[in-house]
Amino acid sequence: MTILVTNDDGIYAPGLAALQRALSGLGEVVVVAPDRPRSATGHAITLHKPLRINTVELPGDGTAYMTNGTPSDCVVLGMMDLLDEQPALVVAGINLGPNLGEDLTYSGTVSAAMEASLMGVPAFAISVASYEAQDYGPAARYAERLAREIIESGLPPGTLLNVNVPDLPEGKLGPVAVTRQGRRRYEGRLERRLDPRGRPYFWLAGEVLEEADPGGTDVEAVNQGRISVTPVRLDLTADDCLDELRARLA
Ligand code: MN
Repeated sequence: MTILVTNDDGIYAPGLAALQRALSGLGEVVVVAPDRPRSATGHAITLHKPLRINTVELPGDGTAYMTNGTPSDCVVLGMMDLLDEQPALVVAGINLGPNLGEDLTYSGTVSAAMEASLMGVPAFAISVASYEAQDYGPAARYAERLAREIIESGLPPGTLLNVNVPDLPEGKLGPVAVTRQGRRRYEGRLERRLDPRGRPYFWLAGEVLEEADPGGTDVEAVNQGRISVTPVRLDLTADDCLDELRARLA
């Protein structure tokens, strides 16, 4: 049985190696990951330049390939070329930094899992919910537990899981929460500065807005120190607006 592992932080990210090691007891782990950091590339695929694949040595067991493509390219290359059989599972991560609320649409990690889901394979994305995380152990052990569960029982069709693990020692983690996607918006996103030649340049930045949380969300669970598991689909239709808009527009 094969498990395909990818990420968006690049082939040498410590979270990727931790994930590879954590899953290696469950089957043959094949890593296909971008050759450089590709965070916030969303669901991008490469259409207008050649994709290349190179073998690399990672500290863990199993085979590892790096590509010049995006996380979603990596899933396509893995499934359509590198693997001899359809993988039992695709796992993306362990991402450095949270993937909560609206950030899902920017996330290369979550999009890699989306790509796998589109290709009919169960998948999850997993992130440590802090940019300062040093210890991937708790997230890696949860990834192993979840992978085992999914391999045994599958996932609802067309559904992937987005997992966020608080950056806490294992003993301090609360119980797992199955959540909704919450809200995560930013304030003051764009900084305008001048370069040494006096010309303006721009830097996307911004602080996360503190917002009232409706409860039951990924944001809330992580704030409570709980592992958040959100089932996600690619159908972005706003179902509750269909009737109103049909009445107005159709
Ligand atoms: Mn990332």
